[in-house]
Amino acid sequence: MNKYVYSFNEGNKDMREILGGKGANLAEMAKLGLPVPQGFTVSTEACNKYYEDNQSINEIIKREIFTKLHELEEQTGKKLGDIQNPLLLSVRSGARASMPGMMDTILNLGLTDEIVENKGQTRFINDCYRRFIAMYADVVNGYDKNLFEDIIGQIKKQKNITNDFDLTAEDMKRIVFEFKSLYQKLNGNPFPQDPNVQLIEAITSVFRSWNNERAIVYRQLNDIPDSWGTAVNVQEMVYGNINELSGTGVAFTRNPATGEDELFGEYLMNAQGEDIVAGVRTPKPISTLKEEMPNIYEEFLKYAKLLEEHYHDMQDMEFTIENGKLYMLQTRNGKRTAAAALKIALSLFENGKISKDELLLRIEPTSLEQLLHPTLDEEEVKKATVIAKGIAASPGGATGKIYFSSDDVMKRKDEATILVRAETSPEDIKGMHVANGVLTSRGGMTSHAAVVARGMGKCCVSGCEDLAIDENSKTITTKTGQIFKEGDYLSINGNTGEVYLGQLQTVAPKLSGDFEKFMKLVDEVKPLEVRANADTPEDALTALNFGASGIGLVRTEHMFFNDNRIQTVQEMILAETKEERQIALDKLQVMQTNDFEQIFKIMANHPVTVRYLDPPLHEFLPKTESDIKLISKQLKKSVNDIRNKIIELKEFNPMMGHRGCRLAITYPEIALMQTRAIIEAVINLDKMGITVKPEIMIPLVGDINELKHLKKIVEKEIKQAMQIRQIEINYQIGTMVEVPRACITAGDIAKEAEFFSFGTNDLTQMVFGFSRDDASKFLNDYYSKNIFSEDPFVTIDQSGVGKLMITAIKLAKLNNPNIELGVCGEHGGEPKSVEFFTKIGLDYVSCSPYRIPIAKLAAAQAQIKQSKLKEQK
Ligand code: PEP
Ligand code: MG
Repeated sequence: MNKYVYSFNEGNKDMREILGGKGANLAEMAKLGLPVPQGFTVSTEACNKYYEDNQSINEIIKREIFTKLHELEEQTGKKLGDIQNPLLLSVRSGARASMPGMMDTILNLGLTDEIVENKGQTRFINDCYRRFIAMYADVVNGYDKNLFEDIIGQIKKQKNITNDFDLTAEDMKRIVFEFKSLYQKLNGNPFPQDPNVQLIEAITSVFRSWNNERAIVYRQLNDIPDSWGTAVNVQEMVYGNINELSGTGVAFTRNPATGEDELFGEYLMNAQGEDIVAGVRTPKPISTLKEEMPNIYEEFLKYAKLLEEHYHDMQDMEFTIENGKLYMLQTRNGKRTAAAALKIALSLFENGKISKDELLLRIEPTSLEQLLHPTLDEEEVKKATVIAKGIAASPGGATGKIYFSSDDVMKRKDEATILVRAETSPEDIKGMHVANGVLTSRGGMTSHAAVVARGMGKCCVSGCEDLAIDENSKTITTKTGQIFKEGDYLSINGNTGEVYLGQLQTVAPKLSGDFEKFMKLVDEVKPLEVRANADTPEDALTALNFGASGIGLVRTEHMFFNDNRIQTVQEMILAETKEERQIALDKLQVMQTNDFEQIFKIMANHPVTVRYLDPPLHEFLPKTESDIKLISKQLKKSVNDIRNKIIELKEFNPMMGHRGCRLAITYPEIALMQTRAIIEAVINLDKMGITVKPEIMIPLVGDINELKHLKKIVEKEIKQAMQIRQIEINYQIGTMVEVPRACITAGDIAKEAEFFSFGTNDLTQMVFGFSRDDASKFLNDYYSKNIFSEDPFVTIDQSGVGKLMITAIKLAKLNNPNIELGVCGEHGGEPKSVEFFTKIGLDYVSCSPYRIPIAKLAAAQAQIKQSKLKEQK
């Protein structure tokens, strides 16, 4: 029989699939003897069952919940709903992967009018009750929390006070009264007085919150499957807000921004946990607790050390002190910046706590992207005007126009923006994702803004109290009275917490320090080469800096689009005679020779794969009437002639039209021009003693005869040049495999090709029959209707496109065992796809320069996982 509810003493840290991360770790802490408030976990399986049963908790699960509740009542000696000795509960979500703040929580559950009355109507009990009513109304009933907040605001205004602390017992009583009246007005029924009903409703709501919008967005951004579901932890309440000997805090065993080995965190006395996370009051650094409550500090430090030692990883812990007694409420592997993750993992590796394989597996490949984010130019920072200083919550630098809501940022997706909020809430996740940086006036290192920004690798300055941020008037006012409006430029420094006037330059990152050390270890394992897709000398340099072993794709047409060249390309396309076309081609040849020379030089001794012209020619022609007129003047051709050429080149289905190798078949002179440019570049560099390894790549081949035909033309030109110029050119000729027919006839094509490079962008397009340029329009419906869970243009479709690749590899190797095999579609830099490419035995992947470290790590991880699997067999 299925079991759906577990007490803490039935679980352990390895049960996160069933108990969620929080539940599994609470059980583990209890097992280690740490002071954890007693409780039980309703499993993720119960959540999935809830969805299977049309969003209702069935009787079997309810029975299990109440059985565990009775056990808890026995353990604590208290009883839910008992007037004399009530058990009060917290009900919190806890998925397998941590999703901070995305799902719902209810605290102080079990309070009723009678219990509050019996407790003597103290300030404390009414404070708890009003928090409970507001949370319940928000989470269970979905009522607007601001309506409740407004009541408190009005009372504070009437009494002319600003701080919640100054509200008296009478005020709290009045707030409770008004909250209950508001609840009844909104609901039609009074606030529920049966704690059993409260409990089931609360658990139901947490399950429901698995599918709230922000949780869904968070899952999409973090690749968390919808099918996991969340667990619910029901625990005895402990109070950090009873008196001055009480408090609550969050701490990391190391600094989550830098990775430094120091206890790092913050706390608030006389407060509940949500006060810290919401960032409403700026907390004190944990080091102050050492002076304020030395015994508690020492005890906490002991647990922190024990937990890091036990989990072999940096821990993020929540604690509460209730009337001088410490309770541990949570521990988990802490979210950290990629820089911190590297420092921590390297330090654990160097101290012998984890092996090299563990070290390499511990870093999420895509997290390395954070290290590739820009920082502010140091020289500009020195000269910049600092307008305020907050907490350096997440490193890097950002510059952009300021906007005061996520919606306003979302409307300007293509611009550089900074999201400015008094404090962020989980609803801001979309805006945070799109903005270049995040700036808040409230909240510390562990506020929502800080935690989420670090997780995203987004530069963030939080708790910048020097700034008065008014989200209604969309203004920031500095201490000196300077005002900034929506759309003004500011820059923020996530390494120092400084905020600067205006737009500062950002600089690209470098591979140095821990990153460099780590990548060396990755290179020792990495089973395949990682090349770059690069079309310019700048890209080639970046690629080399990030450790590319060559260039796997130069899209030569990108050089044609360059402003001062497009006219020559148009001259070639619009030529009416062969001679006219040749004049334009000769001009282009000089330009291409120069391009190739620069790229080959940077990539000396490394392979460079030059892909011959690929897109349909109409792409180079003007699109608007005014451009047509301009070209007509520049090229001295009639407007009509140009229009006619545009009509002549127009295709109904250009992606399956006159492009790729088909262009060179019609216009061999284009392929010849590109061949000559390569030859000239090689000869020029040879004179400087620079060795070049060009690989000539013919695109969109689907039939052996296409390749044969073009290879003959290209080879003839090269051989002639070698003879006449008396030089040895060390070249290869191969093809892209991006048409399904090329996969099926790969055995034949391989006889003529020295290499294959899978163009998985086009291959995906043609295998699915989905236009790569338009698919996003309907794929969203595929995701929402659970037809697809991921975009096949991002992550390789292993069961379709992947199968064709395996067939192609098998057939090709049969006829040409030495054939070199790579991939140059966008999938070449995507970790899951790279894992697949490693498994199927490709020699290299090629991706954009900024994804090189990611692809290398993904390949190394794939290798480690494969070896482990083999060992197990
Ligand atoms: C491909 O199709 O995968 C490819 C790399 O070529 P392009 O994206 O230029 O069509
Ligand atoms: Mg292609």
